[in-house]
This record gives sequence, C-alpha cells and structure tokens, in this order.
Amino acid sequence: MCGIVGYTGNAPAVPVLLEGLEHLEYRGYDSAGVAVVSRDKGLQIQKCKGRLRTLREKLDSLPPLEGTVGLGHTRWATHGEPNDVNSHPHVSQNGRVAIVHNGIIENYAEIKQFLLHKGVAFRSDTDSEVVAQLLEYCFNDHSDPLDAVYAVLDRLEGAYALVILCADRPDMLIAARKDAPLLLGYGDGESFIASDATAIIAHTRDVAYMEDGEVAVLTRAGIQVFDQYRRPVEKEHHTIEWDVSAAEKGGYPHFMFKEIMEQPEALRQTISPRLKGGELCFDELPLTDEKLRSFDRIYLVACGSSYHVGMVGKYNLERFLRLPVEVCLASEFRYSAPLVDERSLVIVISQSGETLDSMAALREAKGLGGYILAIVNVVGSSIAREADAVLYTWAGPEIAVATTKAYSTQLALLTMFGLWMAKRLGRADGADYAAVTAELELLPGKLEKVLADTGIYQYLGSQYFSRDCVFFIGRNLDYALGLEGSLKLKEISYLHSESYAAGELKHGTISLIEPGTLVVALATYGALIDKAVSNIVEVRSRGAEVVALTTESLAGKLEGIATYTIAIPDTHPALQPNLGVAPLQLFAYYIALQRGCDIDKPKNLAKSVTVE
Ligand code: GLU
Repeated sequence: MCGIVGYTGNAPAVPVLLEGLEHLEYRGYDSAGVAVVSRDKGLQIQKCKGRLRTLREKLDSLPPLEGTVGLGHTRWATHGEPNDVNSHPHVSQNGRVAIVHNGIIENYAEIKQFLLHKGVAFRSDTDSEVVAQLLEYCFNDHSDPLDAVYAVLDRLEGAYALVILCADRPDMLIAARKDAPLLLGYGDGESFIASDATAIIAHTRDVAYMEDGEVAVLTRAGIQVFDQYRRPVEKEHHTIEWDVSAAEKGGYPHFMFKEIMEQPEALRQTISPRLKGGELCFDELPLTDEKLRSFDRIYLVACGSSYHVGMVGKYNLERFLRLPVEVCLASEFRYSAPLVDERSLVIVISQSGETLDSMAALREAKGLGGYILAIVNVVGSSIAREADAVLYTWAGPEIAVATTKAYSTQLALLTMFGLWMAKRLGRADGADYAAVTAELELLPGKLEKVLADTGIYQYLGSQYFSRDCVFFIGRNLDYALGLEGSLKLKEISYLHSESYAAGELKHGTISLIEPGTLVVALATYGALIDKAVSNIVEVRSRGAEVVALTTESLAGKLEGIATYTIAIPDTHPALQPNLGVAPLQLFAYYIALQRGCDIDKPKNLAKSVTVE
C-alpha cells in the first residue's frame, strides 16, 4: 500500500525515482509524484492522479526536473479523494520542505486547526500535508532541520513512513518511521530509501531496516540513523539474496500467472530445509519442549488470504495437536478483549510482514503475555522483527496484489509446524506423521502436474466470465479452501462470489440457487465425499451449473453429477488444499482475463496493507 522511494547521489534523481516507483506499483496506489531539489532550481515537483505512466507523460512534456536528490511516492488515498492536489509530495506554504508520507496522521485535524490559527494556508485535504506545514512552522524555532523534525515527530500521532526534502539542503533526505515500513539502501557514493527492497535492488543489495522511532539522515556520503532520543544507532546490514529478475515478469503475461507457476518451486524452497530424512526439523525455532508443553491453546491471527490459511490450519492443527485453535481476523482481534495469556501460542501470518492490522494484533497479544510466532515472507519485516520467533516462507518476492505463492507456502509451513509440534509433544500419530512427511516430499511435483495444463481453466473462463455471481461450496478443509477460491475471484475479476460450508446452504442460502447459477463445488476431502456429492445434487436439482474439483481417486463418485469435473492428484488430506488451491487461482485468473481486468493491480486493493 503506497510506496516511497528516495535517492541522494550523483546521478539525476528522477529516473532512479521513477524506476523505483515502477517496482512499487504492485503495492497498490491511485496517484503518484516526485520531487527533486537542486542548488539552481530549488524544489521542483510533479504529481498527478492516476497511474505512473500519466506522471511519466507529464514529466516528458515539461522541462526536466534537475537534481541528484529527490523522493517519489505512490499514494493510496486515506484522507481526501485521489486527485492531483492530494497526491504527494506535499510542499509547505513557503516552499521550504517537501514530504512524502505513508500511513495516517491520526491527530491531523488538531494540528491543522493549530496551524490555521497561525495563518498557514493548506492546499490539500490530506492528513499528510500537516507534516509539511508543521515542519516549516518548526523551522522558525530551529535552525537545524533535524531539530525541527524531532519537534514535529513529538507531536504526531498515528502511523508514518516519512521522507523529507529541504529546499536549502540539495544534498540530504531525512526519514522517519513509526508503524510503516522503510528500508535504507547503502550504495557507492549514493544512498537510497524505500518502502521495500524491490524499489532499490537494481542499485544495491546492502540494506538496513528502519525501526519504529528511528530517524535517518541520508546524504551521498552515507546514512546516519538516530533513535527516538536522538542517540546514534549502529544499524545491522542485510544483504538482499534474491535477484532483480525475481521481481520482474520474465516473459509471463502477468505477475499473478508467473507466481501461480512458481508455486512448486516456492514450496520446494519452503519445505526442503525443514524436512530431512523424513523428519521435520525447525532448527530456526527457539522453542523448548517445556515451552511447547506450556501452550494450552493456539490463536491464528491474520487478514485476507492469510486468514484463510488459518482456516485450513485450524482443521489440521486441532487434529494433530488436540489443542483448541482459534482463527481470528487481525482487524477484529485487537478490539475483542482476546483471552490470550502466557499459555497462548499466537501465530501471526502475513506475506509482507507489514500488515498493520496484524502488527497491532501482535502487539496486543504480546502485551497479554502470549508467545508470538510469525509466519512471514519478507525477511526483516516489522512483524518478523517483533515476534518471539519467525518462520519464513521462502516464496521470493510476490508482486501481484492477489497472493498465490505466499498463500501456498504459508499453508504448507503451518501444516508442517503443527505436525512438528505434535511430534515434539508426543501427540503425532505415527502413521499420520509418516504419511504427511512422505507426501510433503512429493507435493511440489504433484503441484507441477496440476499446473501442467491450463486448458480447462481457460475454457471455463471463456464459459463463465459473464456471470454475476459464483458460489463456492465445500465441507471441512474444502470449506476453508473455498473461502480462498472465492476471495481470489472477487479480488481480481470483480465478480461477486460467496463461499459456504456446503452443509450450511440448506439453512438459508440455497434460496439463491436458480437455474443457471454457477456453483464451484469442492469435493477433495475424501472423508466427507458422500456428503459433498449430496450437496452437489441438491444444487443441481435446483438448476445450478456445477464445476466440481475433486481428486483422481474420488472422481468416480462425481461421474455424471457435475457439469464439469476437474480431478487433481491425491495427497494426504492435510495437504490436499495445497493442490486444490491452484485450480481455483487459475479459474479466477482466466475469468479476470476474459473480463479485461487489471489482474496484477486490481482496483482499490493494495498489496501490503499498512493502514488500519
Ligand atoms: N494518509 C495519506 C493520504 O491519504 C497517505 C496515504 C498513503 O499511505 O499513501 O494522503
């Protein structure tokens, strides 16, 4: 959600900024802008509503912005409609500073009132503009820009990643963070700052993650970081391991398609370091047997698709561990007086590791004494750093807004963790443990088989793209899987869809089934296949068209019942959703393609949701 990139060095800043912003596009945005400063020309800004290409066109039609220090922003509006004026950067009244901001300044109205009384004129409707105006106001009392920045930060409430450009300092950027990500990049005679590594990986792999409360001063000579009391901080450097090509389309029509196809490899990367000689090993976890024994319940806390991972996880973990598992929406968790205590294991799941709702839930749970285990894809992200322990999904950068490979790897990792914990506690049924671990070895290969032929999904896309509504039904693990299938479809095709526990249909929703209604019936869970068949017959009797997803061994049960049947390879039931999700992703993809949707950047959505 929203992207920030900043550069100071010897090269013209604008191309570096635009290229950086391009790599941040995936995060979701509605407007874009850049600002640079030079000794001769002072502050120069261009910004506009719409896609980055609109900004590029605008920049191309004007004399070039000159300067080797600058900042860029893609905005995801929270306060004030997306328009040219509300776009960032925002400049203070007398043009002394330009800022970009990601997050929400919660006490902006109060600060705005204060400044209005001082005669400051505001241009935009955003919360962010108060930062620029307050900074300029504070410059009156402070000759050192850093003093002014600290004075401003003292007064801000809410969440922010801020980058500041001063008109009279054409060599320097100042940045500050609280509850919104910022990453520092160290180059040779140049320094970078960005919301995430994709924006700067083409220039440097040497990075450090800013922590809450920190302020950074970037010049071409280097980066100084200070804590909230202005004490210098020695940052730990990290090397970005993945290549720039991992964040590029590489010949695929969409990032989403590429990432669907990358799932077998992502699973391999996630599974193989933790599965040795048929034994699960989580050497990365500092959890003793005693600590594991102390847990009397598990919370799975997440948003969106990660929440759906939790829904699958509940079935699997309760079965493996015989412990109560609660799945919580992170945005609700914090405000629901959760019953977390020292005996609670709280597993927070997030691709980006920056999801603000999940972060807020994490802090709430930690405050209540819970032990926090994070399942995260982005190394060094905020959730990973604040958790007591972290399990990384090695999915590589995920660029499409709608998650695919992160979902798959989270799912496998959570199942593996549950089984590992059960074994450590002496609760894993031997045969089950052996069967799941054996199937884990085979899982990437079986997924390759599922993905080998996309013809049927392409065909279904062409058949069903013009429908108004699609129902997903399933029982148990298939129900949890259907939630994800339905969300994928809504996210990228804007087609309304509902997902139901199949047994629940008769309690109300079946009234919506009419001749021609499309139902995607998930029937991969062998233990309940007869019940699933009955539910398919129920909707067929009312005229529904049914696309059924089942396994090769169960396909016979559906013969002559569904309109179309897709059969995927069998695996252990606990892992079946890992194979079942791919057809649902492809179904959503081809429907969206037929509907002409912007698949990688669906409207109104953001990849990394950094506001509450
Ligand atoms: N709250 C700010 C605005 O609406 C920043 C939004 C963002 O994070 O892009 O302008």
